[in-house]
Amino acid sequence: MPEIAGMARAYRRMTIHHRKKMMTNIMEKSDSLFMNTYGRFPAVMVEGKGCVLKDDTGKEYLDFVSGIAVCSLGHCHPAVTEAIVAQAGKLVHVSNLYYTLPQTELAELLVAHSFADRVFLANSGAEVNEGAIKLARKHGGPGRYEIISLEGSFHGRTLATMAATGQAKFHKGFEPLPEGFVHAPFGDLAALGKMISAKTCGILCEPLQGEGGVRPLPQEYLQGIRELCDRHGLVLIFDEVQVGMGRTGTLFAYEHFGIEPDIMTLAKALGNGLPIGAMLARQEVAASFSPGDHASTFGGNPVACAAAVTVMKTMLADGFLAAVNRKGEYLAGRLQGLAEQFPDLATGVRGMGLIQGLVLTSRGASLGADMIKSLFGKGVLANFAGGVALRFIPPLVVSESQIDEMVDRLHDVLGAL
Ligand SMILES: *Cc1c(COP(=O)(O)O)cnc(C)c1O
Repeated sequence: MPEIAGMARAYRRMTIHHRKKMMTNIMEKSDSLFMNTYGRFPAVMVEGKGCVLKDDTGKEYLDFVSGIAVCSLGHCHPAVTEAIVAQAGKLVHVSNLYYTLPQTELAELLVAHSFADRVFLANSGAEVNEGAIKLARKHGGPGRYEIISLEGSFHGRTLATMAATGQAKFHKGFEPLPEGFVHAPFGDLAALGKMISAKTCGILCEPLQGEGGVRPLPQEYLQGIRELCDRHGLVLIFDEVQVGMGRTGTLFAYEHFGIEPDIMTLAKALGNGLPIGAMLARQEVAASFSPGDHASTFGGNPVACAAAVTVMKTMLADGFLAAVNRKGEYLAGRLQGLAEQFPDLATGVRGMGLIQGLVLTSRGASLGADMIKSLFGKGVLANFAGGVALRFIPPLVVSESQIDEMVDRLHDVLGAL
């Protein structure tokens, strides 16, 4: 340990020039070690607190990405850190051959505050979507295996969830795709209805497409999808991996629509950064799984569950979700102001709560990636979603003054184009 303290002291004494050099070394080393799957920004992040991240050179960033809607309570939320540390000192892993307290407490909270009666815990969004696909097939019975999902959707990177994803760019080079997935054109209920056959077991959709460009499903469309499922005995699966857990201003996005699914998947913000996913279902559907049908070694890990319990309790505390709605409206209003100021770049704003997209014109969209790069240079993190919108998904604890600061810097970026 004294060596580490010594290294930290030596690091603090380094000049910015040396730190920058060290950062370049880390980036070069990473690029030579890892498979080339990520296009990264040139920053080595070392610390985070609330909505602010700090890199290796001491530069600060206002974080409107939140690790892709993951750190919703902000970086290193003290109560979450405390829960993680306390649980790590007690019990880290035992497998699902035994019962543990944190996962039972988490399941109890999820069931008490959702439509669902039963829970399955796993480690990521793709993994719980795989579970949902398996459950829908098992529930459908022999010969009913096809899932209809929507164009523009995103459901994950495993083979099945990639096949469910309704964007061709994710499929290229990985054919043949697993069988049993078809995609309906977005917003066209009649076309969706025509795709239902004796093979169909379920419809999978995001109430608001996040990766697809911050695109909420119209109310009547979602209502129509629910009715199609009821009429044909299909399970309706909501992928709330990105928009669940308070992001839209309600604990789950489906609450806005007043439409309940039969299965719902959660992941990103559930553990505020610890890897955890949950698949929830109504009892009648969940009953189609028997022991041995599905499992996960790490799923329901006590440390991840202890973090998730704290996330749930924090979000359910008085005033938390009301503040998300208030700040979401404020963010949307400020972005709308920019859209009006720069009509050649942006057409408007869409989103719910604290997932908001500045929708770009075709000229704007051709510059979307550059806008994000310039923002990064000015110390603001955001991303460009679906090739159509700048997406803003700050920690839900963001303040109005941080929103103002981000909008001011975005104003400068747009003004320079
Ligand atoms: C991120 C995401 C996933 C995939 O989650 P991973 O944890 O990356 O596997 C699935 N669905 C939606 C809607 C997502 O946003």
